[in-house]
Amino acid sequence: MLTLTCPNCGITAEETEFHAGGEAHLKRFGPGSSDSDFEKYLFMRENPKGVHFERWRHVYGCGKWFHAARDTMTLEVFGTYTAQTSTVPQEIIDKIQDRRPDWQVSAAP
Ligand SMILES: [Zn+2]
Repeated sequence: MLTLTCPNCGITAEETEFHAGGEAHLKRFGPGSSDSDFEKYLFMRENPKGVHFERWRHVYGCGKWFHAARDTMTLEVFGTYTAQTSTVPQEIIDKIQDRRPDWQVSAAP
């Protein structure tokens, strides 16, 4: 079972209290961008077996969005942080590297 902690209100709950919002830290492309960049922004997503950075919304709580770093295979959560954070916090990168020594920092968004 996946258990997440909302960084906005501090409540820890099962995933049924939250709603998954897809990949975190997408670079947005709009009018004026190339067709290739716009296509990647709209349709192409990472689907790793391992460390992944995702968006979640606390739908049955405060209603706010946040980011989570977790392992898609083991459901281990490395940490959560607010949606206003544009890069992965260093303490979460350190935690991932402690637990997954083979993981490359360059894979962080
Ligand atoms: Zn919350």
